[in-house]
Order: sequence, then C-alpha cells, then structure tokens
Amino acid sequence: MEMLHGVAPVLCTCDSRGVRVELINTGSELLVGRVLNTHQQWLGQQLSDAGYEPSYQQTIPDTGDTIQSAVREAIDRSELVIVTGGLGPTSDDITRQRIAELLGVPLEEHAQTRERIIAHFQKRQRPMPEVVLVQAQVPQGATVLPNDHGTAPGLALQTGRGWLILLPGPPRELRPMYTSYVAPLLTEVLPPENPVLIRTVKTMGIGESSVEERIAPLLQAQCGEGLEIGYCARMGEVDVRLSAHGSAAATLLQQAECIVRDQVGEYVFGVDQDRLEDVIVRELNRRGQTLVLAESCTGGFLAHRITNVPGASGMFLVGHCTYSNAAKQDTLGVSEDSLAAHGAVSEVVAREMAEGARAAHAADYALATTGIAGPTGGTEDKPVGTVFIALATAKGTRVLNPCNRCDRETFKFVTTQQALGLLWKALA
Ligand code: ATP
Repeated sequence: MEMLHGVAPVLCTCDSRGVRVELINTGSELLVGRVLNTHQQWLGQQLSDAGYEPSYQQTIPDTGDTIQSAVREAIDRSELVIVTGGLGPTSDDITRQRIAELLGVPLEEHAQTRERIIAHFQKRQRPMPEVVLVQAQVPQGATVLPNDHGTAPGLALQTGRGWLILLPGPPRELRPMYTSYVAPLLTEVLPPENPVLIRTVKTMGIGESSVEERIAPLLQAQCGEGLEIGYCARMGEVDVRLSAHGSAAATLLQQAECIVRDQVGEYVFGVDQDRLEDVIVRELNRRGQTLVLAESCTGGFLAHRITNVPGASGMFLVGHCTYSNAAKQDTLGVSEDSLAAHGAVSEVVAREMAEGARAAHAADYALATTGIAGPTGGTEDKPVGTVFIALATAKGTRVLNPCNRCDRETFKFVTTQQALGLLWKALA
C-alpha cells in the first residue's frame, strides 16, 4: 500500500458483531433524481465483495446540519462510515468543514495536497482559481487519500469506534481512489471478520433457470461445505456468482468452477469483470485477426463498445455507420436490386453489408446490423423490432433474425449484444 499522508493507521479492534459498515451519500441532486446514486451500488458491491456487509445507507441533502447529524449517528453505531460528495472547492461543498467541526479538530493545510493541486493545473496548462486551494485544508490528524483524477483529496479519520472515510463525488475520482487507497487501508486497519473469495462465471445464450437446473444439483456437496451460488440475469447474459469464506474457499471455488464449466462450458464467455467485447478484442488480438463493422440500426454502438476496450486498435479496422440506402450502396456495395426487392431490413441486405465490408477491407470478420428500432416504420411482415445481424467470415456468412421489441436505446444494446454473441460463438 502506498504510504498515505497523515497519522499512522492503527488496527481497529471490533466487538463480536464484526465491522459494521454504512454509507452516507450527500447531494441534493441525488434526492431529486437529477443524478443517479451510483456510489451506493458501486461501493456496496466493492465492500460486499471484500467481505464487509454494508448495513445502513442514507442519501442526504448537502446542508451542514444534516451532514453533521447523519455522520454523528453513523460513527456512534458503526466501525466504518463512508461519506461521499461535498469535498470540492465551491461554496456548497461543506463536508470537510462540517466534519472537522463535528470531530472538534481544526482544518490545517496539507502541503503535499497543495502541491498536487497546483501541479494538476500546471500539467493541463489551465489557470488555477485561488479557491481550489481550499481543498488542501484537511482536518487535523486525517490520513489523506490522494486524488489521481482530480483535485479534492479523500480523507480517512479515526473515530471512537473505527474509521470515517470521506470520498469525492465524481465517480471517475471516487472509484480509482477507493481501489488504490481505501481498499488497501481497510485491509490493514479494519480487516473483514470473514473475508470472502468470489468467482463470477459469465455465460451467454442460455437462460437463468436452465443454468441453475444444470449446475445446482451437482454443486450440492460444495454448498454443504459453505459454497454460495448466486445467479444474475442481464440482457442476453447470466452471471453465476460463486462465493465462499474461510481457508477452504479457494479449493471450493476451483471445484465449483470446474463443475460449472463441465455443465454449461459452451455458454461460458468469460469470468469476473469480463465483458463480451473484452473477450472478443482479446481473442482477435491473440489470433492476429481483424474485424470491420457495417452498422445501420445500431448507429455506431457496436464500434463504440469495441473501441471502449484497450487494445482494440490491434484488431479493429473500420466501422461504417451506413444509415441510408445510398450509404449502404456507395460504401458497402449493397445492390440496388436487393434493396428494391427485399428492403433495407432484410437478410439479403444484411448479408451484402457484411460481405461488402469484409471484402473492402480484407478483414477476417465483418459484422452488419440492419433493423427497425421503431416506434414507427414497422409493417405486418416486418414489425418494429425486426433485426438482421450478419457475420461474414472466410467460411461463409451467418445471419440472425431476432425481434427486439424495446425502446430505441435498449434495442441498440440488445442488438449489439446479439451481434457480439454471434461473433464470439464463431470464435469459440
Ligand atoms: P466537485 O469537486 O466536483 O464539487 P465533490 O466531492 O464536491 O466534487 P459533489 O459536488 O458532491 O462532489 O458531486 C460532484 C458530482 O459528482 C455531482 O454533480 C454528480 O455528478 C457526481 N456525484 C456525486 N455524488 C454521486 C453519487 N452518489 N452517484 C453518482 N454521481 C455522483
């Protein structure tokens, strides 16, 4: 763990009930629904994956008295209290000040944080408003958690029962700060009473109940020894979450994963944090093969998902977003006759889009999508939701024809999920 700035952390001794954990999310914008409280979900997951059981969560407006009373109650009953938001430089960011008051300690300048803030602006060649330096004022005795993606540092403070952790509001600052500094600090000063090991096996193309039906009876012995199984169905995918505590946990998870793979291996595309696009980018890079995209109804969303993955440049050649018939003809070589005879949303056109894109760029694989996202444009033959997804490869072209009846955004996600699934199956 990086040496954090502040007091030397001490190990906290908890009573027999273990480490009680609670979250306080500050921000009036969360209460009125302008911003979705993703910290609650993200931190809850990180904590429970590490073996802590969050037992209480509050969302409160960012008014001083409310923050003070919520934190006062929380630190009285819980060993670990995490507060998010309100650490910024503006007049409504009052968490730091109010917590110092509550703990009865003065704010004092933290020289390293001041330097970090100045360097942050210099690196970006942006003028620094003087007010941002208020973020270098930290409650006396606080352990400072550096902010590698912004200016407001996080703070860890010892309380009568344990620790109070203050984290900045923006998710892109909070998440890396938690991973790099808070998680290691907690392991050191408030280790979970019963650490948990988790393995998530990710499947696609099979339903939740079918997965359960196939694996649950064969995992009974492991469950008797403490293995827990959870199922989480999301669009087109089912996660099997295997978890276990104690010294036998690693062996139990290994045995369980083998059984899951034996039973539903043909549907398993990855583990833990893997997404379909990660697996595809990794696999095509490993093989030294390439992909091109010819998108109509997904409007570039497939290209977006692929290019979100680090390393995509090694396998991704080009993504066409050919929404009009003219673009399909000019860019991909789709024939006028096919468009006239079958329509833009048809198996023939999907096939020509994929084959045209593959040939034009000498790629190993080409995926094409064409469909009717709705809410208008459907016919009796081709209702709203009709999609054709084509995959062209050296071995030939496969076309899927699902019907995805949902709002436009979900339609795009589901369609890209099916397209990536088609490619993943071809690679598997
Ligand atoms: P800043 O320096 O940006 O002011 P801060 O630590 O003061 O940071 P807030 O002002 O409370 O944090 O929040 C900054 C932004 O972070 C909010 O506008 C919001 O977009 C996002 N944010 C805050 N809390 C949450 C949350 N619980 N879930 C998701 N996003 C959040």
